[in-house]
Amino acid sequence: MNQPQVDVVVVGAGFAGLTAARDLGAAGRRVRVLEARDRIGGRTWYRTDLLGGCGLEMGGTWIVPQQTFVSAEARRYGIAISDSELPSRMTWSDRGTVLDSLLPVPPAELERLEHAVRALLAAGARLDVNRPLSGQGLADLDVSIRRWADDAGLEGNARELLISWFCGCGNASSDTGSALDVLRWLAAMDNSLWGMVKASVLGQTFDDGTVSLARALADDGGADIRLSCPVRSVRQEADHVVVTSAGGAVTARRVLITVPLGVLQDIDFAPALAPEKLAISKENHAGQGQKVWAVARNVPEDLSGYGWGTVFDYVGAMRTLPEGVLLVCFAPGHDHVNGNDPQAVQRAVREYAPDAEVVATATHDWVHDPWSRGTWTTFRAGQITRYEAHLAVPEGLVHFAGAHTAHRWPGFIDGAIDSGRRAAAELLEAL
Ligand code: FAD
Repeated sequence: MNQPQVDVVVVGAGFAGLTAARDLGAAGRRVRVLEARDRIGGRTWYRTDLLGGCGLEMGGTWIVPQQTFVSAEARRYGIAISDSELPSRMTWSDRGTVLDSLLPVPPAELERLEHAVRALLAAGARLDVNRPLSGQGLADLDVSIRRWADDAGLEGNARELLISWFCGCGNASSDTGSALDVLRWLAAMDNSLWGMVKASVLGQTFDDGTVSLARALADDGGADIRLSCPVRSVRQEADHVVVTSAGGAVTARRVLITVPLGVLQDIDFAPALAPEKLAISKENHAGQGQKVWAVARNVPEDLSGYGWGTVFDYVGAMRTLPEGVLLVCFAPGHDHVNGNDPQAVQRAVREYAPDAEVVATATHDWVHDPWSRGTWTTFRAGQITRYEAHLAVPEGLVHFAGAHTAHRWPGFIDGAIDSGRRAAAELLEAL
C-alpha cells in the first residue's frame, strides 16, 4: 500500500495515551490520538462547573512523591501541587456507631489489632513491586480480601477494619478484590502503613486540577488529538494497521491501545485479541465502587472517618466552603448509595457525623460510563496470577499500555504515565 498516514495511532487520551503521544512526538514520529470522549484526561476529570465551581476531581486526584513518574512530569512542566492537610484525629464508625476512642478496637482486642498489623506488614514484605508479581510465588495472596483476612487469622474489629480498609483502597468488594493488589500499595510505599494511608487520600493534589498536567502533556510533542472519535475496529494488514473510528479510517504503521481493561472487549480486533486479554476484559477488574463529593453542615471541619459495615468506607473533609464542609466519600460498590441524592448521601454520612446535613452532592458514574467501565484498576482475586504476564505483550503491530499494565502503581495516574513511557520506548524500537 501507499505510505501509512501516520506512524502511530494512539487509542485513548488518558495519561497513558498522552504520555506515549508526547514521547513519540518528541522523537519525531507522526502521531494521531483518537479519543472517544469530548475531552482529554480519561479517568481523571477536573470539573469547575459543579458545587458552586469549587473545583472537583471526579476521578484520579492524589499523588505521592514515591510515584516517581507523575512527580517527575509535574516538575518538568512546573505544575503546582500541594500537600494535603493532615487530620488532627481519626473517626471510626463500627456499623454506623461512631466509636468514642482513639483506636478502632477496645483495649481487650489490642492484641488482635497488633496481629492484624503484623500480618499485613509480613505479607507486604514479600512483594517486589519492581517486577511482575505473578512470577514471585504470591498466589496465596492473590485471593479475595475476605479470604486473605481469614487465612491470616484476623479477628474482631481489627478484622473488620482491615477488610474495610482493603476494600476502600481497592474500591472493590471483599469477595472480588485481590488482597495481593492492595498489598502492592503497601509494598510500593516501602511497606509503610502510614505511607499507604497517605497514598489513598492524604497525598498531594494538583492546584489547578489533574487537567493541568494532562494539558501540558497534550501540548508538548504536538500530537494530533481527535476528540469524540470512539475507535470501533483495529485491522492488521501485512505492514500496516487500519483503525476505524467515528471519524473514519486511518492507516498507521503501529497502534497503541490504552483503553481501560473492561473496555478492551468492545473494540473489534482482526486478528482477534489474545484469549487472555479478551478473558480479563470480559471479567473486568474489581474497582467498581464510587466516589461522591458532598457539601455538609454540622460536620467537623477535620472529619477523617474510616468505617466498617457502613455505606461509605471513608468520609473525609477536604475544605470548608461558604455553604458547608466539602466531603469526599468512597463506597466499595457503585450501587451502595445514589450519589446524586443528597438525602441518601446524608444518611450515609451520618454514620460518621450523626448531625450532618448534606446540602448538595456531585458524582460521576464511572462504572456505567462506557469508556471506563470501572474506577481505578484493582485486579480481581486470581487475575494477577492468571493474566498479568499477558497484559502488555504486543500482538503483531498492536501495542498495549494503560495503568493496568504497570507493575508498581497499576491503579494510579503514575502507573498510566509509567506505561505510556514504556510503550513509547517499545514503539520507537519497533518502528
Ligand atoms: P484512562 O484514563 O481510562 O484513559 C483511557 C482513555 O481511553 C479514556 O480517555 C477513554 O475515554 C478512552 N477510550 C476508551 N475506549 C475508547 C475507544 N473505543 N476509542 C477511543 N478512546 C477510547 N489515581 C491516582 O493516582 N490517584 C487517585 O487519587 C485516584 N483516584 C481515582 C478515583 C476515581 C473515582 C477513579 C475513576 C480513578 C482514580 N485514580 C486515581 C486512577 C487514575 O485516574 C487512573 O489509573 C488513570 O487515570 C488511568 O489512566 P489511563 O490512561 O491508563 O486510562
